Amino acid sequence: MQVLVLNSGSSSIKYRLFDDGGEGSDGLILLARGLVERIGESSSTAAQTVVAADGTETEDVEDGIAIADHAEGFRWIVDRLESSGVADDLGAIGHRVVHGGEEFSAPTVIDEDVIARIEAQIPLAPLHNPANLTGIEVARQLRPELTNVAVFDTAFHATLPASAYRYAVPERLRAEQGVRRYGFHGTSHAYVARRAAAALGRTEEQCKLVTLHLGNGASAAAVDGGRSVETSMGLSPLEGLVMGTRSGDLDPAVIFHLIREAGMSAEEVERVLNRESGLLGLCGDNDLRTIEDRAAAGDEAAQLALDVYVHRIRKYLGAYAAVLGRLDAVVFTAGVGENSDTLRAAICADLDVLGVRLDAARNDGVRASKAPDGIAAVHADDSEVAVLVIATDEEHEIAEQTLAALEA
Ligand code: ADP
Repeated sequence: MQVLVLNSGSSSIKYRLFDDGGEGSDGLILLARGLVERIGESSSTAAQTVVAADGTETEDVEDGIAIADHAEGFRWIVDRLESSGVADDLGAIGHRVVHGGEEFSAPTVIDEDVIARIEAQIPLAPLHNPANLTGIEVARQLRPELTNVAVFDTAFHATLPASAYRYAVPERLRAEQGVRRYGFHGTSHAYVARRAAAALGRTEEQCKLVTLHLGNGASAAAVDGGRSVETSMGLSPLEGLVMGTRSGDLDPAVIFHLIREAGMSAEEVERVLNRESGLLGLCGDNDLRTIEDRAAAGDEAAQLALDVYVHRIRKYLGAYAAVLGRLDAVVFTAGVGENSDTLRAAICADLDVLGVRLDAARNDGVRASKAPDGIAAVHADDSEVAVLVIATDEEHEIAEQTLAALEA
C-alpha cells in the first residue's frame, strides 16, 4: 500500500509518497516528493521529483501556473503522481497537524468528529491549524475513498509531566483557556531520538537524550526512556530558542510594554514576535548561511545574532541535563543542526561540566544528509556524552505513524 504525506501551509502544500513495501518489508520506500507553492497568487510553482528503485531522481517543475486554492493544488499533486505512474496503490493520506491540544496524543484516523475536535484547537494555533484543516477537507472531498490520518506535532510531548507543562498561572486559565505548554516538532524529536538510541546500540528505555531541532523554527527536547519530559516550545511555537524570525523566550511584560507604551495592537505584537524577531530581528537576515558568511566577514550584528542564538541553546542544554539527571547524547538535527559545523562547535565549546566534548576533526564539514544512513558521531573518544548529527525525516515519521494508526 502507498501512503501520501501532506504538509499543508497557508500558501503551500509539501508532499511525499511512500510505499510500505508490502508484507515482510523492512521499511518504507520513498517514491516521490514535491511542493506546490504560492497557492492563490497569480503565479504559482509546482514541482515533483520521482525517485526510481535504483535511486535515480527525475524532476518535473511547472513554473508560472495558476493554482487558485488548495483544492487545485491537491488535484495537481494527485494528477501528477498518477500520470507519472508512481501512484498506483494509494491507500491512505497522513496529514501533518500542528496543534492537537489536550485532545490528541496519538495519530488519529479522521472522521467528522475528529475534524470538529481539530477545529476546536484553532484558538491555540490560529497561524497553523486552519491550513492543515484545509488540506484535510480538500483530500476528503476529492478522494473520499482514501483513509485520512492526522499526525500531530504536539503528540510526542503528551508525556510531559505537569511540573514541565504547567505555567504558574491560575488553574482556571488552563482549564478554561487551555493555557499550558504543549511542545511542537514532535515527529522530528521522536524520529531522531529513536535513531539516536539505535546508533548508541541501546533500547530507547535506556537513553537520556537532548534533541536539538534547529531549523527555521527551533526547539529542544529532553527525552528520557523514549518519552519527551521537557521541551522548549510552549502554548505555541513561539516559546524557547531563538529562531529564524521568532523571538523565543522573552519576559511577558515586553508584550504589555509594547501595547501600552508603543501603542501597538495585540496583532501587531504577535506579528513582530513571530515574523520580525529572532535572527532576522537581531541582524536583518534569517538564513543562517548568510549570517555565518556575514559574521565571518566581520559583521558585528551578524556575530551578535549568532552569539544570542548559541547562548540560548547552551542555556537549555544545561537545564535539560539537570532535568534528565544524566546525559547519554546530544542530538543535532534540521537545517542548521544537520549542516552547520561551526554552530555545533560553538554550542558544544567548553562543556566539560556536562561531559560533552566535540572532536573538531570529526565535526568538520559533516552534513547529516551526506553521512552513511544520515547519522554521524562527532564527539571525541573521551567524551562522556555522545554528540550525534542525525538527518531528520518528519514525512517518513508521519507515514510510519499513519500506517500505525491504520493498524490500531
Ligand atoms: P524549516 O524549519 O523551514 O524546515 P530547515 O530545517 O530547512 O527549516 O532549516 C533552515 C535553516 O537551515 C536555514 O536557516 C538555513 O540557513 C540553515 N541551513 C541549511 N543548510 C545550511 C548549511 N549548509 N549551513 C548552515 N546553515 C544551513
